[in-house]
Amino acid sequence: MKNKLITKVALIGGGPACATAAIQLVRSGIEIILVSKEIGGTIKNANLVENLIGYPEGVVGLDFAKSFQLQLTKVGVPIVLEEVLTVEQIGNKYITKTAETEIISEYLIIGTGSIPKKLDVEGEEEANLNGKLFYEIYNVKQFIDKKNIGIIGSGDVAYDYALNLQNAANKISIIRRTAKTSSLPILQKRVKSTENIVVLNNHVIKKIELKEDKIHLEIEKEGNLVTLIKDLILVAIGRKPNYDFLSEGIISEYTNPKSDSKLYFIGDVNKNNFRQVSIAMGDGMKVAMETVKNIAEKEGYHGASRQVW
Ligand SMILES: Cc1cc2nc3c(=O)[nH]c(=O)nc-3n(C[C@H](O)[C@H](O)[C@H](O)COP(=O)(O)OP(=O)(O)OC[C@H]3O[C@@H](n4cnc5c(N)ncnc54)[C@H](O)[C@@H]3O)c2cc1C
Repeated sequence: MKNKLITKVALIGGGPACATAAIQLVRSGIEIILVSKEIGGTIKNANLVENLIGYPEGVVGLDFAKSFQLQLTKVGVPIVLEEVLTVEQIGNKYITKTAETEIISEYLIIGTGSIPKKLDVEGEEEANLNGKLFYEIYNVKQFIDKKNIGIIGSGDVAYDYALNLQNAANKISIIRRTAKTSSLPILQKRVKSTENIVVLNNHVIKKIELKEDKIHLEIEKEGNLVTLIKDLILVAIGRKPNYDFLSEGIISEYTNPKSDSKLYFIGDVNKNNFRQVSIAMGDGMKVAMETVKNIAEKEGYHGASRQVW
């Protein structure tokens, strides 16, 4: 362990939830460290974010992420750009460790978002390791040029991915196990009117194989086995809260929160939360204000107890 840092509040995550909390805490004069493996978070995958107040024309997910990266720098949020491997509580301190750094804090705010669910079929991991199957779109967009893409899933994310790639890919198939979609009507309408996107119903993936430069999907379709051949696959079958790296003690607080805790979960990682940027930002702001209030009450007025605009 090379670096040992001590701070009042540590935040884990570089998405909208922790970015909002971090900016408010710094503006309130609280000593913080934000640690994240990257800045921007899941919204980098979004084709066009149209439900955020202030963006009447919508905003491309990557552009939105870049804008709050700039804001974090401008406000002077101290950032450790590393992956957190373990988090535990020892006495009344939280110990957050990466491969390089140990951060000791009195308060801990966890905003580690969600991770994509896997298909859990034979050949999936091999295809992922060979750069043929992906779960997030933002880091593969540059490989899509004129390719034949399969998107597995039937919700908002699958439809959003398809629309995101409509100009880059040759052909896009949304492959779903039923004939139903849980996607927003507006996304369904756009997909329907996009020529190079088709929706394949009742296709259940059984096996994945790599053959030469292609990915072969073995599919059960209404009792028959069929094969689909694609250049690349994106899996978008849902996401789950990302907290597996936390110690048992911390996870038990996640499940049964204590009323006097100095540990908070915000944004998509929060159980039963609706996954939306504005909710993540609202969580971040609320927890920042609560933390400021707690610190001011326990340590006396230091300029932080007032509302900060
Ligand atoms: C395709 C797509 C389209 C979307 N479109 C919209 C939309 O139009 N409108 C909308 O409101 N929402 C949309 N969302 C949802 C939105 O992206 C999330 O609700 C939002 O990003 C949640 O923010 P968060 O800060 O809670 O988590 P995230 O954005 O997931 O951020 C989590 C952060 O934690 C970091 N992290 C995770 N684990 C570790 C670790 N072990 N160590 C260090 N850092 C770690 C990550 O690197 C990341 O920076 C969309 C999502 C997707 C996938």
